[in-house]
Amino acid sequence: MSRNYAPIVKWGTDKKYKKVENFLLRPSVEEKAMEVATRILARVKESGDKAVIDCARLYDGSNISTRRIRVSPEEIAEANKLVDKAFKKAAKEAHKRITAFSKNGLRDNWKMATPKGGMLGEKFVPFDRVGAYIPGGAAPLASTALMTLTLAKVAGVKELVACSPAGKDGKLNPYIIYALDLAGATEIYKIGGVHAIGAMAYGTKSIAKVRKIVGPGGPYVTAAKRLVYGDVALDMVAGPSEIAVLCDTSAKPAHVAADLLSQAEHGTGSEKAMLITTTLKQAEAVRAEVLKQAKELSRAEPVAQVLGNGMLLVVVKDLADGMKLSNLFAPEHMELIVKSPEKWADKVVNAGALFIGEWTPESVGDFAAGPSHVLPTGGTAAYFSGLTVEDFRRRVSLIQFTKEDLQDVLPVVEAFGRVETLDGHARSATIRFE
Ligand code: NAD
Repeated sequence: MSRNYAPIVKWGTDKKYKKVENFLLRPSVEEKAMEVATRILARVKESGDKAVIDCARLYDGSNISTRRIRVSPEEIAEANKLVDKAFKKAAKEAHKRITAFSKNGLRDNWKMATPKGGMLGEKFVPFDRVGAYIPGGAAPLASTALMTLTLAKVAGVKELVACSPAGKDGKLNPYIIYALDLAGATEIYKIGGVHAIGAMAYGTKSIAKVRKIVGPGGPYVTAAKRLVYGDVALDMVAGPSEIAVLCDTSAKPAHVAADLLSQAEHGTGSEKAMLITTTLKQAEAVRAEVLKQAKELSRAEPVAQVLGNGMLLVVVKDLADGMKLSNLFAPEHMELIVKSPEKWADKVVNAGALFIGEWTPESVGDFAAGPSHVLPTGGTAAYFSGLTVEDFRRRVSLIQFTKEDLQDVLPVVEAFGRVETLDGHARSATIRFE
């Protein structure tokens, strides 16, 4: 283990403050990935399926053809046989909890009366066709299948499309297929990366265009999503994972270290983990545990990369300063392991998801708790929120005026029409009383 891994810095006083600043000012999308994604998307727009297949071969080494791009019913049946019983049980339990949480998140259509007997309101309409991206570059994220399409199903979406990269044999991981099927996927395609985002956004002969794309991804997928904004609706910037743990001396260093490492093992090398704690002694104890536990994890290479570039242990004056730093960082996941965590929870404003107290490791949010694990990254948790069931519905405003209501607002319509030099607007109201 390198001496430079997981450096400790003091916020505010240390010369190494620059390191904290680099964390805070991290880009939400990587420049290099934007260039690559721009080129690939142009190819998909121009050549459709051909570009998609070429890119699947080039970037994923996947041996697929247009004929075999979609997962067949036989492949779903085969996946069902291959997946072990313990995973099926776990997936069903997670699915049940995500469904229950999503049902709670559904808003009812609502109405209110206008002053003169009319009605105003909102109604919610599910998208007819959405696409979920399920990462498969470094790890087969079967949980993401449940954390995206389960919500779409509860929202009432009819066509649930999913894309995830196939392996070299042209097959999709059976656990991903199983989880997608459980979540209600109606079409599953064996493609990933930028070309999958392009196919869903623009449509190809084999894959019909979707209305909205959701789901996380590595730097390339995240860049591609940004570039297709407007061609389709999107959820958010859900890129490489991040965690901040704010703790005092009541936290067990071994637990904190395990939680920091949990987000380091994804494998794109762009993941970020920040410890914020109140004493140097606690930071040193966590660092020792991080270095010890890192050796025991199976994904040594990606973990080492994050330990080198993406993990910072920051000592702050007190918890109030720590909270300030965490809100500036705006992490995707934030853990609060302090005495009286509920008291501090109120002060967290910028975070994708907040994990309160020592019995809530971030991994329960990833796999089992109920809220979607698709969350904003790269500092965007200061202005985006995590995926919810309402992301799969659109809102339509309802306005029904009576004659008296219209008469009531006539002076308002006329005044705005005059100021905005839009007399046609005013006339469409006044003409009704002529
Ligand atoms: P991925 O599927 O997003 O990316 C892999 C794909 O990117 C490959 O299939 C390939 O097509 C493409 N690609 C890779 N290198 C390329 C290159 N040089 N040029 C062009 N295309 C290239 O999977 P991943 O890389 O494993 O990333 C998944 C990420 O999702 C992880 O960082 C994880 O932390 C993150 N994640 C985020 C959230 C969230 O809500 N924010 C949730 C789960 C996971």
